[in-house]
Amino acid sequence: MTIRLPSELVAAGLAPPEKLADLARVAQRYAIAITPEIAALIDRADPDGRIARQFVPDIAELTTSPDERADPIGDDAHSPVEGIVHRYPDRVLLKLVNVCAVYCRFCFRREMVGPGKQMLSPGKLDAALAYIAAHPQIWEVILTGGDPLVLSARRLGEVIRRIAAIDHVKIVRLHTRVPVVSPEKIMPALVRALKAPGKTTYVALHANHPRELTPAVRAACARIVDAGIPMVSQSVLLRGVNDDAATLEALMRAFVECRIKPYYLHHADLAPGTSHFRTTIEDGQALMRALRGRVSGLAQPTYVLDIPGGYGKVPVGPGYVDMCGDAGAMVEDINGVKRAY
Ligand code: SF4
Repeated sequence: MTIRLPSELVAAGLAPPEKLADLARVAQRYAIAITPEIAALIDRADPDGRIARQFVPDIAELTTSPDERADPIGDDAHSPVEGIVHRYPDRVLLKLVNVCAVYCRFCFRREMVGPGKQMLSPGKLDAALAYIAAHPQIWEVILTGGDPLVLSARRLGEVIRRIAAIDHVKIVRLHTRVPVVSPEKIMPALVRALKAPGKTTYVALHANHPRELTPAVRAACARIVDAGIPMVSQSVLLRGVNDDAATLEALMRAFVECRIKPYYLHHADLAPGTSHFRTTIEDGQALMRALRGRVSGLAQPTYVLDIPGGYGKVPVGPGYVDMCGDAGAMVEDINGVKRAY
């Protein structure tokens, strides 16, 4: 059973009894969910607490710093109809559900996701699909949420088929944590449902620490990739979880071993009560430099920041080139030595 209550966290040994009152205060504001797979992982293979830190609530979540905001990446500013975020010309987010299999303590949509916030009503889904159909520049539809893979194979398959039937949509991408937190859900019927008839499906997997990629998780991802569905990764740079070069290296290598192309390393967004997770951009750039020296291009994600206010996602370095006008450029090698070009 998924753990959802502070008392269940204590009973499972995931938090000490003296923290019960603090946990209850956090639970009044933010949803809690820890699947059996994650609870077992914390129990048997988390000596440094880097998995627990992502899922077990902390009283620090009730401290909101002045620069944090309920909608850190500005979804609302780009939502023409409910369920759609149209921030870039050629793609939209379609938020089918506002629930997840787990609730990450650093979630950038933490004010929008949680139990009781269910899926788009049939009428609103019709309106969202009509919006996509009416905008021929939309080449890619990204199912996110919440986590679209909490839906049954039947419901998810039906939505994907309706999207695939829109002529100008060529790519359907799903953002999910389910293969990591509930790998047993990645069964043949669900994998079949992911395929968009006549179009291309991508699955973007969210994982932040190499120990999340257990044998069961790797097998679940293999079921997706073996079905001909390419996978990419998304990770969040998190203080106390993966903010060291060795951990990031192991994580990126694990993705590549699973046939998952490292895609994004997100700088942690300014979501309320998450400052204890955030690094500086300088720290992130230093880690990306270290990664460049340690792993091949195949294992390099792009380090990105969603500019607060809804201005979109941009790579935030590091940069390796200093232009010197007519004199050419100075280019930094992987050892940090500047070379003339
Ligand atoms: S799975 Fe994604 S949307 Fe859900 S809580 Fe975690 S980060 Fe947020």
